[in-house]
Amino acid sequence: MLREHLPDLLSDSRPLEALIAAAQLDVAASLERALAARELTFEDGVRLLHTEGHDLLALLRTADFVRAVDIGPVVTYIVNRNINFTNVCFVGCQFCAFAHHRNDAEAHTDDIAQVLDKVQEAVDRGATEVCMQGGINPEMDAFHYRDLLRAIKSRFPAMHIHAFSPMEIMYGARRTGMNYGDYICMLKDAGLDTIPGTAAEILDDEVREILSHKKVDVRTWVEIITTAHRLGVPTTSTLMYGHVEKPEHIVRHIELLRSIQRDTGGFTEFVPLRFIHTYTTLYRKGLVTPTPQGHIDLRLYAVSRLMLRGAIDNIQTSWVKLGTELAKLSLHTGCNDFGGTLMEEQISKSAGADAGEYLPAERIRALIEAAGRIPQQRTTTYGKVSGHEAHGASDGTGWRSGRGALSTGPQFAS
Ligand code: SF4
Repeated sequence: MLREHLPDLLSDSRPLEALIAAAQLDVAASLERALAARELTFEDGVRLLHTEGHDLLALLRTADFVRAVDIGPVVTYIVNRNINFTNVCFVGCQFCAFAHHRNDAEAHTDDIAQVLDKVQEAVDRGATEVCMQGGINPEMDAFHYRDLLRAIKSRFPAMHIHAFSPMEIMYGARRTGMNYGDYICMLKDAGLDTIPGTAAEILDDEVREILSHKKVDVRTWVEIITTAHRLGVPTTSTLMYGHVEKPEHIVRHIELLRSIQRDTGGFTEFVPLRFIHTYTTLYRKGLVTPTPQGHIDLRLYAVSRLMLRGAIDNIQTSWVKLGTELAKLSLHTGCNDFGGTLMEEQISKSAGADAGEYLPAERIRALIEAAGRIPQQRTTTYGKVSGHEAHGASDGTGWRSGRGALSTGPQFAS
């Protein structure tokens, strides 16, 4: 199915019941299970990730229906700024075109003053969050992450700092000799508010061995994430798809996130991220065959919505990976969050993404409205931003913050 045919497909006016009735029996059974809010099984997930043609249409429309019932018409977004403070990294992930050796001409590391200038720029543009992630720089001072946080919070106490992937946390803890709990506590005391659930890629050690054998392994990723949740530090959750993985890996990954969420309640959202291949080693070595954008992206968003029903309510699309038009379409296949304005985005751009580095809030709002939905600026933890309430939402309050959201306070075990 070609990307340009997707809008026609999604405008099919037959009622959902008729679409499901016309689907293959086993697909229809999986969709009925999702509609009844019963937890989808591994087999359901794999089956739905293979849907094509009419079955795919039934899946996409079911995901849209579930999104409408569970979340409502509001689509959230955040005004934020990425700060990729160093591209120096020794890890050598095969899917990454962002990292450089420290002696490369293009290697750069922002000092604390440069980071503060970037935060000031974010403040000037109305951002409520800075998202800081970088390479694993062997020359970094052991307490550099803590010092960055202290410097930002002492000058910008109201800025939400969303920073340091589990890979960075693992490295930072190792450099200081601290255990993960003590290290995360130290970062929290220094101003860390939330953690990106990146470095997840596919949570399967065999796949990770192909993608990057030095990367944080599954057990450690889970330990760091659940430790953060238990210490009252929420995280996002992510998945990178479209490389060497199989549908079974994706489903197991989503099941793992779902079970963590049932334990801790600490995930704010799920963000599927398409692998951008152009300038990566994986592609140069011929280890991946690029798949055209379109139905595999929308199918994955739809399966995520259904598999995570009752666990993680916020499914975020990625305009950086997909471009704005496909991201807009994904609002009809299960997504309810448009992500952030970003202002600086080097990681996808280095790998060959061409959607740009900055999307102004006005443009995000216009895209959401063009999809027939109601834009709502949010905080990192899906709270409302005062002065930016949604207008016209059918539930009278403008939106529903979602099961994984933390606007009423953390929902952690302790
Ligand atoms: S993905 Fe991160 S850890 Fe891996 S090489 Fe790139 S910057 Fe380094």
